[in-house]
Amino acid sequence: MNIIIIGGGIHGITIALRLLQDHVITKEALQIMEPGPYTQQWQQITSNIDMDYLRSPLVHHVHPNPYDLKKFAKTNEYTQAFSGYYQRPQLEMFNDHIQNAIKENDLEDCHVYDKAVALTKENHLWTVTGESGTYQASHIILATGLNHVHHIPDFLSAVSPARYQHIFDYQQPLNKADVVIGGGITACHAVRKLAADRPVTLIMRHDIRCHELDAEPGWLGPKNMKAFNQTQSYVTRREMIKEARHRGSMPMHLKQSLKYLEVKGKVNIIKGDIKKVDDQIITLTDGREISYHRIALATGCGSDLCQDPLFSQLIQTYQLPTASCGFPVVSHNLEWFDQLYVSGPLAELELGPVSRNIIGGRKAAERIAEALKQAPVSSF
Ligand SMILES: Cc1cc2nc3c(=O)[nH]c(=O)nc-3n(C[C@H](O)[C@H](O)[C@H](O)COP(=O)(O)OP(=O)(O)OC[C@H]3O[C@@H](n4cnc5c(N)ncnc54)[C@H](O)[C@@H]3O)c2cc1C
Repeated sequence: MNIIIIGGGIHGITIALRLLQDHVITKEALQIMEPGPYTQQWQQITSNIDMDYLRSPLVHHVHPNPYDLKKFAKTNEYTQAFSGYYQRPQLEMFNDHIQNAIKENDLEDCHVYDKAVALTKENHLWTVTGESGTYQASHIILATGLNHVHHIPDFLSAVSPARYQHIFDYQQPLNKADVVIGGGITACHAVRKLAADRPVTLIMRHDIRCHELDAEPGWLGPKNMKAFNQTQSYVTRREMIKEARHRGSMPMHLKQSLKYLEVKGKVNIIKGDIKKVDDQIITLTDGREISYHRIALATGCGSDLCQDPLFSQLIQTYQLPTASCGFPVVSHNLEWFDQLYVSGPLAELELGPVSRNIIGGRKAAERIAEALKQAPVSSF
């Protein structure tokens, strides 16, 4: 057996660490495809918006041992390492912890600096076509997440792309926008950063919604997952996920910081629905008009998997099973097709509302490791 993990983000690294720790695979038989440095997408997006602490608690990170980050913080004597009741980790320390795990496990030896564009299977072997080479493995794990698939609202269809940017498009620095569209934690961080230089307008469809976490902790275990697992209908499962995930929300302390900026006159918070946008004016459905220079979109990732050519090619070539929401229908051990496993949003209909979070990487890693323990180990 040899494995290629596509995506060296948080989930890719979490899964690799687990497979190595459980001796499911040797380092020599493992490759991780990531076009740039490991976790670059995560690091760039979060640093572009000056995020200081994570939203999730201290036990959610890449290492298989939940207390490893706490130990790391203590050993390296970080100050203000965790914040608040949920002990949210400081971003810089969280990232150092990942780099430390990569180094300790020599994961750089597994790194293939390439982007996967197509996958084909022949004679029990997968071939991954990358932008600069081809690679083969008996098993594939898709850990690309969806942050590279951006949700661009329809009201921007007539606007020149030079007038807006999506915050997840991390190659563009976030420094010129004077309007942010979105109502969640990413919008809040972006506004806080931009408001340091100039007044910013935040347009959101609803009042600020406060939730400390993306989903309630009951979704981490049987309390809520029992009913989810017993639900056969993927339509109902999707509804349960929608209901459980607090999209467009932020913790109370961030709401307070936003309100403080509003009082100081640095942020203008506008609640309203956008009707149309041209290259200069945003018009709301109630007729209000807001002039702008540049828009930053904090509208999250898209839900059409076929926007990613790799997923589109896979689904079409192998007629892979998807639910009516367009997301994969996978087995209990997250196998989508013959020796092709998934994590993150792709595993959501099996792992539930926390699947696309950091902890979803650990949950996916546990199931995939269990499944692969049955397969014989060999060198690459
Ligand atoms: C601003 C922000 C803050 C967040 N804060 C939290 C938080 O506090 N707690 C939490 O649990 N979650 C948080 N999240 C959600 C977070 O994105 C995920 O938990 C985490 O990044 C998911 O890991 P991932 O590996 O699935 O995705 P990513 O970390 O985005 O990694 C995916 C990787 O796959 C690579 N990739 C994509 N396509 C290909 C391809 N075709 N070939 C090769 N490589 C490819 C990308 O380059 C990327 O590096 C946050 C998200 C954002 C945007």
